[in-house]
Amino acid sequence: MKIADIQTYHLNMPIDEFAFSQKWVRARTALIIKVVTDDGTVGWGEAFCHDAGRAIEAIISQTFRPHLIGRNPLEINVLWDHLYNWTKDYGQKGIVISALSAVDIALWDILGKVSDLPIVTLLGGQFYDRIQGYATGLYMRDAADDRQNLADEARSYIEEGFKHLKMKVGYGLAKDISIVTAVREAVGDDIHLMIDANHAYDATTAIRLGKKLSHLNIDWFEEPVSPEDIEGYAEVRQAIDIPVAGGEAEFTRFGFRQLLTQRAVDIVQPDICAAGGLTEGRRIADMARTWHTRCIPHVWGTAIGRAASLHFIASLPPTPPALFPQKALLELDLTPHPLRDEVVLNPPEVVNGWVTVPQAPGLGVEVNESFLEANSRSNIHHHNP
Ligand SMILES: [Mg+2]
Repeated sequence: MKIADIQTYHLNMPIDEFAFSQKWVRARTALIIKVVTDDGTVGWGEAFCHDAGRAIEAIISQTFRPHLIGRNPLEINVLWDHLYNWTKDYGQKGIVISALSAVDIALWDILGKVSDLPIVTLLGGQFYDRIQGYATGLYMRDAADDRQNLADEARSYIEEGFKHLKMKVGYGLAKDISIVTAVREAVGDDIHLMIDANHAYDATTAIRLGKKLSHLNIDWFEEPVSPEDIEGYAEVRQAIDIPVAGGEAEFTRFGFRQLLTQRAVDIVQPDICAAGGLTEGRRIADMARTWHTRCIPHVWGTAIGRAASLHFIASLPPTPPALFPQKALLELDLTPHPLRDEVVLNPPEVVNGWVTVPQAPGLGVEVNESFLEANSRSNIHHHNP
């Protein structure tokens, strides 16, 4: 079996704008990869792309493609290692690793289809049949009353069945305290609430915020400080009693090593579509468990990335093990995303906030190729003669 062709699809659609601590979001994008073998088997993957979809396409077509065409797609680890080492001098973090993640996920999809098994089985089996989702939303909008607006949105997630919500902070201490208090009051004490600053603060300010919110029973404080500031993470973690989470802007086991060895976080959050795919995600999760640290992946893509994350999360044992352990969680981005479910014909269904792990071979999603063809802005389509 050989890789015969690789295609990419870059999608970009405008949305009603919303903001987090770093910027306004006015479009949703996706970078989808299709790997085709000489016997016609097709594997799909996704890269976390922000607005760099074209650049990731170029990495895949210019840099990776010559190393993949003609190779055995089932040698996932061999190919991962080769592509990582080939680009090491310029690609240890960022979009080169996101591109590698997309390739890796597509190869796992092929392995699943060839074996007639879901990826979660190939990862060693599933600890959960279904995963509890947590609602990621509660961004800033151009609203007259932010407190009221966020409280209404939070209540809508509770009505959908969610027990876990994550909201954005990072707008300044006074504003953060005001809106987190409003959401906590709106949802009551029984709902799990997490906050995410998207690295808007230095360690001193993050510590002040953590202390001022400690009475609101926050499950975790995500990206309190800049991803480069490992010492700052460790200072925050030492100083506050809210668990600290981070890692969505970190890449490969080499990046996560620092977070773990310096005991900088309580929860690592690798993104399977960015940090190195399922192959590297597994290494990161194994390493996290070696440091007795929870791994709750960041998830922000279409249904393809969501499916990959579902298989991955279901394969992770509870950390630490216990009769009543802390259960796995799947991040469910509930912000506007006109591409999210449209790229597949059978998106993983959310029922009362829970998502069942797909059992069809590979990722278990059926990609809507005509939607991709109709909406792709790619100008890089390679077909073998
Ligand atoms: Mg985040």
